[in-house]
Amino acid sequence: MKNRILILGSSNVDLIFRVPRFHHPGETIQGESLSTVFGGKGANQAIASKRLGGRVTLITKLGNDHYGKSYRQYLIKNGLDPNWILKDKKLPTGMALIELDPKGENRIIVSRGSNDSLSESDLKRFGPFWKEIDLFVTQLEIPMTAVKMSLKMAKEHGALTLLNPSPATRLPYNILSLVDFIVPNEWEAQSLTGIKWKGGQDLLEIAKKLLEMGTKNVVITLGSKGLFFKNRTEEIWMKAFRVKVVDTTAAGDAFMGAFACGLSEHKPIREVLRFANGAGALTTTKYGAQPSLPLKKDLDAFLFKNPLSSRVSEATPLSEYPPLTTLEDHNTHLTSYPDPVL
Ligand code: ADP
Repeated sequence: MKNRILILGSSNVDLIFRVPRFHHPGETIQGESLSTVFGGKGANQAIASKRLGGRVTLITKLGNDHYGKSYRQYLIKNGLDPNWILKDKKLPTGMALIELDPKGENRIIVSRGSNDSLSESDLKRFGPFWKEIDLFVTQLEIPMTAVKMSLKMAKEHGALTLLNPSPATRLPYNILSLVDFIVPNEWEAQSLTGIKWKGGQDLLEIAKKLLEMGTKNVVITLGSKGLFFKNRTEEIWMKAFRVKVVDTTAAGDAFMGAFACGLSEHKPIREVLRFANGAGALTTTKYGAQPSLPLKKDLDAFLFKNPLSSRVSEATPLSEYPPLTTLEDHNTHLTSYPDPVL
């Protein structure tokens, strides 16, 4: 076992406009401020894992524009291998245009740009390196053909496969049989299974359905309520750490990066879940996406100081589970951002 993690996924540049209110069709309004920050689930999860000591390679694709050039430098500065930060000659770098109103509500337009051209041939170029990989992680902000092909290649080379099915999208038939760990949030888990979680046993039903769909392990992240893990033999419900939340952006990506990092170190599952739970929580205590992803020393200190929050309950009745989080709750995630990083 080599402990090597390969993350395949998106890189986006987020343009965040603070607006006094959402404008009407045909109307022009003044924005209050503009922040430009690096994001995209693939890059976020790779940086999260890297900061926690993971041996990570990221395969991602940027455009041949000034955003792509700046992002490339930033990823290299964060220790990622430049050979796999690919460039599309024609398409622009993936962008998200985010409007934030004073209530913290947002409207987002995403242009996938160069993320959309990650292809089979890019994956094949990785050729001999596939066999070096211990663990493979991907998400759904890139073409589904690349997701499916990469999971297949990872499995063929004996890697453990992790899928963060985000954003919620219909999955091709049978894809979950290529997935060892599926890690959705509660919203994505409901969307994948078609089962509504009203706060009780149905969470268990959702996890069971995902297992029936072919995956071997299910980790459902539950925001401020922590997480639920299930496989064929074990069920774990872990409460969230109590923290002073300022911005939940990228909590899921921090969780995923930390989870991959913990698994790659062959830690027991409870320890891996606690590590990821801590990373997610710590991320919510700082503004922004990538700037808030914790360093290993800070996460270790946090976990050392908060031993009680490691309480793992297999016996907690699911009927005590809090009620469903709505899509609206998710849309309040973006609240505030640090200065531009470009
Ligand atoms: P996503 O960002 O993908 O919607 P979640 O909101 O479920 O994902 O958050 C992922 C993880 O981050 C949670 O399982 C938990 O570990 C941590 N987390 C998120 N929000 C909070 C919070 N308010 N307090 C403590 N931990 C949190």
